[in-house]
Amino acid sequence: MDLKETIRTIPDYPKPGIMFRDVTTLLGQPRAFRQAIDELVQPYAGLGIDKVAGIEARGFILGGAAAHQLSAGFVPLRKKGKLPYKTITESYQLEYGVDEMEMHEDAIVKGDRVLLVDDLIATGGTAEAAIKLLRRAGAEIVAAAFVVDLPELGGADRIRALSCEVQALMA
Ligand code: 5GP
Repeated sequence: MDLKETIRTIPDYPKPGIMFRDVTTLLGQPRAFRQAIDELVQPYAGLGIDKVAGIEARGFILGGAAAHQLSAGFVPLRKKGKLPYKTITESYQLEYGVDEMEMHEDAIVKGDRVLLVDDLIATGGTAEAAIKLLRRAGAEIVAAAFVVDLPELGGADRIRALSCEVQALMA
């Protein structure tokens, strides 16, 4: 099925002028959810992925399912202050201000082969912070995989410039 047709676009969310791609409509359709996960993991099956890292919050849903399918572990990359144990932190620029992403300091074993997963890449700032955090912990990032790429915002090119393979199911 055409997964693009299962994603709803909400105008002016969360702010006027933004066309928000709402993937909850994809997640809610059994065949679409399965197909999206199948397509996300297919290039990496058999490549020895140790862990899938998912970016809060929709990256948890997709990344959890992807980790299960790859028989990999799952690592949550969270907003500041949400993780209970010792963390490492990476700051990144938002349109207005900065945000911080955290990961448990022992979530990655040096040399772990990691697949990074999120629902959507726009400017790539969020994924860049995730890659920096994972690499600081010693991860070998095999690829970053997204359901949606918004290519006009340049995020995929920004991530490829970090020598990280990028995959998206649709633009
Ligand atoms: P970036 O850092 O690449 O500019 O923004 C990507 C992050 O913001 C991702 O974590 C993604 O979930 C969220 N995001 C930005 N725009 C959208 C959108 O239109 N739809 C969805 N579902 N997420 C978005």
